[in-house]
Parts: sequence; structure tokens; C-alpha cells
Amino acid sequence: MRRKLVAANWKMNGDKAANSALLSAFVEGIDTQAMDAVVFPPAVYLDQVASALAVSGIRYGIQNVCAADMGAYTGETSLSMVKDFTADYVLVGHSERREMFADTNAVVVDKVKATLGAGLIPMLCVGETLEQREANQTETVVGGQIKAVLDAVGIDAFETIVIAYEPVWAIGTGKTASPEQAQAVHAYIRGLLAQASAAVAQKCRVLYGGSVKAASAQELFQQPDIDGGLVGGASLLADEFVAICQAAKGV
Ligand code: PEP
Repeated sequence: MRRKLVAANWKMNGDKAANSALLSAFVEGIDTQAMDAVVFPPAVYLDQVASALAVSGIRYGIQNVCAADMGAYTGETSLSMVKDFTADYVLVGHSERREMFADTNAVVVDKVKATLGAGLIPMLCVGETLEQREANQTETVVGGQIKAVLDAVGIDAFETIVIAYEPVWAIGTGKTASPEQAQAVHAYIRGLLAQASAAVAQKCRVLYGGSVKAASAQELFQQPDIDGGLVGGASLLADEFVAICQAAKGV
């Protein structure tokens, strides 16, 4: 039985006061006895998040990392810096990074490898654009993004890696994939992993992301291959995010 996981991707939003209010509401409202919750703040707020969540069961991570260890990489954040704040998770390959910051499959592979090497958990984002879906290329695109990582790190690493399937057309648009559309891709992803190892495929958590709201969460999380959600916009609203976590707990 895979434990549900719900992650908050704050993207480039927030300030100290707003973060503080959100984090207090998360600590108060999220029960991590029966599900896992993870917060991805902007890197400059990692210290604030680490302090606020220290005594809670809610974990946290970073939205992007540099695969290099240290040195002349202006503006980047290293894995050892992330570990300094006892973070566990690293978001890798979010579609906004793939689109705007040239995170190609090769770059994503380097970041996943480095994250695993540092003993942290990569949350690997994959997903197709609307054009690709309309051209019936969803499985080719999503399969290619996963196979690039699989070929590089091997199937056993997927006992640690969390996959987030995020159709690009559903991110920040208010258009959630229907539970059936999402389940179909999740089943494809699990089938792909099962070709390498049925046991690992059963253990790997595959989250759905794309305009998840409290109102849509439960039906999505009830699908057999959906193991939780990666939540953007709704994770900036305390009541919404807490309700999404409750939906995960209740399934
Ligand atoms: C995301 O940023 O990963 C995301 C899914 O955003 P939203 O929930 O706003 O669509």
C-alpha cells in the first residue's frame, strides 16, 4: 500500500509574513499520521520553512538545485546547502524549468543523479503540452522523460524517486485533467516501470499535478494509480491546501 503524498509548490511567491501565516496553518491543520506532506518554498525561505516545520511531521525541499557540488555557479544552490537545512526533497524537471530555464532531459538526469547521490529524494516532474496531447504524443513524451532517467539511474532508484505527472496544459490554467485522463497516464507510467521491475513499480509514488483544488482532490486521489498531488496555486491558500491534504488522508 503506497502512502499518499501531497506537495506544495509555492513557485516564486510569498514573503516572510505570508509564509509564516501559511506555515502555522499547515502545522495546525495537516495530520501527517496517515499521509505525507511536503512544502517547496523559494530557496531564500528554506531557513524559515525549516524552522517553522521543525517540530511537525511536514517535510520540505527545494524547487530546483544545481547538479554541481560547489564553486563558481553564480545564482545556483547546491545540494549540500539544501542538506544544511535538513531538507529531504528536490523538485526536478518542473515544466516551468523545462520551458523557461532549459532543463532538458539531460540536465534533469544530472540533477536526479546528484540528488540521489546526496541522499535526498528527487520529485521528478513529467508531462505533455496541449499540442503533444492533441497529436496523441502523451505516452511518447512522458515515456521519453521517464526513460531518460531510468536509463541513467536504473529501476531501483525509483523506490526513492517520486514521479509527478503534470500535464502542462493543466498547470496554473484551472483546467484539471479528468480523473480518468490522469489515471490513464498514471497507469501507463506504472506499466513502464513494471517492464523493468513489477515490485518497484508497485512501490513508486506517482503524484498528479495540474490545478488540483480541494473540490477535485478526492476523486483524483481515489484513482488506483494516483498517489497524491503536486499543488501549485492552491498551496498558497491555507484552507485549500489543508483540505487537499485531508482528502489524501481520507482515501
Ligand atoms: C505546479 O506548479 O506544479 C502546479 C501543478 O501548479 P497548479 O496547481 O497551480 O496548476
